[in-house]
Amino acid sequence: MRRISIFGATGSVGANGVDLLMQAGGADAFDVVALTGGRNIARLAKMARDLRADVAVTAHEELLDDLRAALAGSGIEAAAGRQALLEAAARPADWVLSAIIGAAGLLPGLTALRHGATLALANKESLVCAGGLMRRVAEDHRATILPVDSEHSAIFQCLGNETLESVQHVTITASGGAFRDWPLERLATATVTEASTHPNWAMGQRITIDSASMFNKAMEIIETHEFFGLEPKRIRVLVHPESIIHALVSHVDGGTIAHMGAPDMRHAIGYALNWPHRRPLPVAPLDLAAIGGLTFRTPDETRWPALRLAREVMAAGGAAGAVFNAAKEQALDDFIAGRIGFTRMAPQVEATLEALSARPGFGHDPADLETVLEWDRAARQEAAA
Ligand code: NAD
Ligand code: MG
Repeated sequence: MRRISIFGATGSVGANGVDLLMQAGGADAFDVVALTGGRNIARLAKMARDLRADVAVTAHEELLDDLRAALAGSGIEAAAGRQALLEAAARPADWVLSAIIGAAGLLPGLTALRHGATLALANKESLVCAGGLMRRVAEDHRATILPVDSEHSAIFQCLGNETLESVQHVTITASGGAFRDWPLERLATATVTEASTHPNWAMGQRITIDSASMFNKAMEIIETHEFFGLEPKRIRVLVHPESIIHALVSHVDGGTIAHMGAPDMRHAIGYALNWPHRRPLPVAPLDLAAIGGLTFRTPDETRWPALRLAREVMAAGGAAGAVFNAAKEQALDDFIAGRIGFTRMAPQVEATLEALSARPGFGHDPADLETVLEWDRAARQEAAA
């Protein structure tokens, strides 16, 4: 039986992963090693019981007793805190879903790669802040990284066995998020509640706000660059309000292959789970006649300055990705806490990049995890200042 772990099981992507495992036979079909979560102890304990996991880990040390109580009599080990999370990540597993949100997902994912696991990567932050490191560790330990972000799964599927030489460019689509059709002058007064609703996808709050600001798409441009090794000039973004086409690969011979599907993360997660095979998944079939039409527009960089910043980050290389991600996380924290307005996030990230680009070593690709984390800390400090 395949040994499986899910980091961030209680989140939006993680819960979809758990759902897929349950529908594919649950504990009778998979040997579930570790499930991790945060403050939702009841949810974590239920998932661990349903899947008969070896260990359940909450990221919060003070919740250990609660988790123990929730797992009483099940024989499932309870653990808590950062160290426990890494210990669980180091337990041998064949397939690991990396679905923690933010840079906090980097170390658990790297740990799984060091143990040779196949890492189904939803945590795009890992590639944005440490793409080079992730690839080197995967290569050194003969581990595989599979994309779970819907656009990147789509590119991966469109590419098939084709090499990048035959690719002219790749296009990832963006719904445009909550404020796609808002008048520009209204954006400055957008509230957290307004930014937390997505037209098409049901996702965690942070990535939903990042969709409204297009910081999510900015991260995904960098993720495309890091994952596929594609030069920035061959990566395009298209606003596609219906979220039916997730990515398009345009070849040198004038042909373009598009990947379509209902906006349901269980397709991309399930594709990574079954790869290299395809198996039935509990995903609604596509009914194009019911949808009627698909529309597209060029993204407006005045509305979404994050897209321009992504290009600047890729041009700068080195530590720019780590700084960009951390500054973005800090700006998002500041927006959610009501310290800054919606349209202040991008200028705050840009100012942080500019300030830190003067520091020695900025132009060098971080060689190790410690260096990535140093840039991450410096960026959060600078952004919050
Ligand atoms: P979420 O907020 O719903 O869930 C996050 C999970 O991570 C939870 O289990 C939470 O307990 C855990 N977590 C949060 N902070 C942690 C920390 N410091 N240490 C350990 N665990 C922590 O997030 P989500 O929307 O499921 O997104 C997860 C990842 O997947 C993100 O990287 C996101 O960009 C990516 N992603 C999400 C979607 C989506 O549909 N939600 C789509 C594509 C990619
Ligand atoms: Mg995506």
